[in-house]
Amino acid sequence: MEKLLAFDFSAFLVMGVLLFTTVTRRMTHGKENRIFLATLACAFLTTVFDTWSIILDVYADGQLTLKYISHSLYLFFHSLMVLIYVSYIISLADIWHRLKRNILHKILIPLPILAVTVSLITNFFTHKVFYMDESGHYCRGTYFPILYIAGFVYAVYGIFFIWANKILFKRSRFWALMSVFILVFAATFLQMFMPDIVIEMFATTIGLLFISMIVQKPEENIDLITDLQNSTAYTIDIKRNLYNEKVFDIIMINVSNFHSIRDIIGFDAANDLLKEIANKLKLLNKTSKINSDLYYLGKGKFRMTIDEDKRERSNEIAELINTDLQAQISVNHTNLNLVCYVCVTRCPYDVDDYEILMHFGDRFTDDHEYSGNVLLARDLFSKERYDLFNKLDSIIDNALTNHKFQVYYQPIYSTKENRFNSAEALLRLKDDTYGFIPPDVFIPAAEKSGAIHKIGAYVLEEVCEFIASKDFQNLNIDYIEINLSVTQCIHQDLVSQVLGILEKYKVTPDKINLEITETATSHVQGIMAKNIQELTDAGIHFSLDDFGTGYSNMQRVASLPLKMVKLDRTFVNHEDNPKLSIVLENTVKMIKDMDMQIVAEGIETEQLVTRFADMQCEYIQGYYFSKPIPKNDFIVFITKNLNRNAK
Ligand code: C2E
Ligand code: MG
Ligand code: MG
Repeated sequence: MEKLLAFDFSAFLVMGVLLFTTVTRRMTHGKENRIFLATLACAFLTTVFDTWSIILDVYADGQLTLKYISHSLYLFFHSLMVLIYVSYIISLADIWHRLKRNILHKILIPLPILAVTVSLITNFFTHKVFYMDESGHYCRGTYFPILYIAGFVYAVYGIFFIWANKILFKRSRFWALMSVFILVFAATFLQMFMPDIVIEMFATTIGLLFISMIVQKPEENIDLITDLQNSTAYTIDIKRNLYNEKVFDIIMINVSNFHSIRDIIGFDAANDLLKEIANKLKLLNKTSKINSDLYYLGKGKFRMTIDEDKRERSNEIAELINTDLQAQISVNHTNLNLVCYVCVTRCPYDVDDYEILMHFGDRFTDDHEYSGNVLLARDLFSKERYDLFNKLDSIIDNALTNHKFQVYYQPIYSTKENRFNSAEALLRLKDDTYGFIPPDVFIPAAEKSGAIHKIGAYVLEEVCEFIASKDFQNLNIDYIEINLSVTQCIHQDLVSQVLGILEKYKVTPDKINLEITETATSHVQGIMAKNIQELTDAGIHFSLDDFGTGYSNMQRVASLPLKMVKLDRTFVNHEDNPKLSIVLENTVKMIKDMDMQIVAEGIETEQLVTRFADMQCEYIQGYYFSKPIPKNDFIVFITKNLNRNAK
């Protein structure tokens, strides 16, 4: 008997500790955690009544009623535990909504526990499930198999759900969930040979311990500042919901001025602010009884997911949140006004793609002016745009293999020589489905995917092939400007790639001019400085593109071996502001004093041409002369102008 008690008592202790740590580890958020907690509570009660029953059996002669009650409770909680464990698996796989739709499951799932409950209650009178013999010993009755069958039906359900949804679980999670069944089956099997040792509850406890360690990791899923679920949990839940074709709404709350507020009030107070917002959301969740999941994704972004049965209240809840967050919030005696975008997204109607949904959540604040009203994703959402964004990588790959890229040329005018002396090569992409895609969209994507290196090589080859052609020689064009992105600049093979292509087409280095952007210069160190130096040593000149758009560090500009500076069009177009005109004039003078030449970009009017020519800017580029045009049009354009000049 001691052996018997030893196993049960240790199961009881382990369950107690598990239950305690589960509560203290704050594993009470979210449906799954709550159901897991219920499983543990049930398992704990099972061990309590199991241990109590054994103690009564061994030490309390007589006490028949107590024995009946304690054995009945043990058997009831034991069956209930299996049912709750199956519910936990269903929640993890998030398939409740599917089961609810199926009438067979609706009947089959509650049936076994009903049978168990009825038979245990009637057992007090019939003694058919179990009974106490004359000497007061516990004996199984003829109806006892009902309990086995109930347990078996739930086990089959559980195993089936784990198996059918294995794609949603990592391998470790899959086996941890299975372990409960495997261990219990093994224990039941062992018990057949050693009926004295009741180790089944012990085996269940070990299984639940595995789950607690492997599946239930609240530290990974809870944001410590707000006590809400974190972005990892959000990612998992959203992916799973979409995979399961679940209908649900997301209320997205982006505090767009969070970073500037944090800069003013400091990190600690900003954390207090986040807690305050989280508390408001929790309170609203509680008072409105919508039982939604709440998340904090970082960077002032909160999310609330609302299940299908509560969806008709999403707009009302979003309005309440919006009003609540528009009121001033006081943190550390500072009154703050949040700029909160609140947006209701209906899945899968507005968005059914995970990547697009995540992008949308990140970007919708950038793309829309703050109105103070609740936004509806269906009004904001340009599916084509997000679709395009999603497919850019394959569009770029396809364009590279199927020669969909085209190099255009924009003529650059020399004010000193009164002729077009050069041109800038600008890449164009026309996709069969999406039409013209601007470089501002595909270049950043190509930089991320690494396709920019192939694109760079393609542009250089095209330009060099053009320069080497007979057509080019007749145009009296001195050189072509080629854009280099930062990613290209920091690539180890840049020098060999550029020099290799020049060599291939027998083009001399003075025929090309590489443009690097002002932002790129902030990365100047190591490999980039080495690349620029080696290419300069090889005789290639560099221009600084988009000057005036970023933070101009003149010290850095002066330290680079640059031949030209290209003034960005946003910098050259401000005649209406006399102070900025002074800045422009002095910048031009300073660049010239540093012995660099100037290209004024984005010149659209004759007035500006005259102005820059008067400021002694050597080169002018802009729509006033021509937009970027295909190679053949460029040849025609320059040839015409040559002839006009000659006349
Ligand atoms: P960027 O190098 O500063 O090119 C100048 C941009 O200004 C071009 O836009 C050009 O079409 C536009 N532009 C020129 N004159 C005017 C004007 O008078 N008015 C207005 N409104 N715009 C004018 P585009 O072709 O859309 O290119 C945008 C940017 O994409 C380029 O800016 C460059 O940074 C990048 N890009 C283009 N082609 C390539 C390429 O082959 N490689 C790399 N790495 N980047 C490229
Ligand atoms: Mg450029
Ligand atoms: Mg530019």
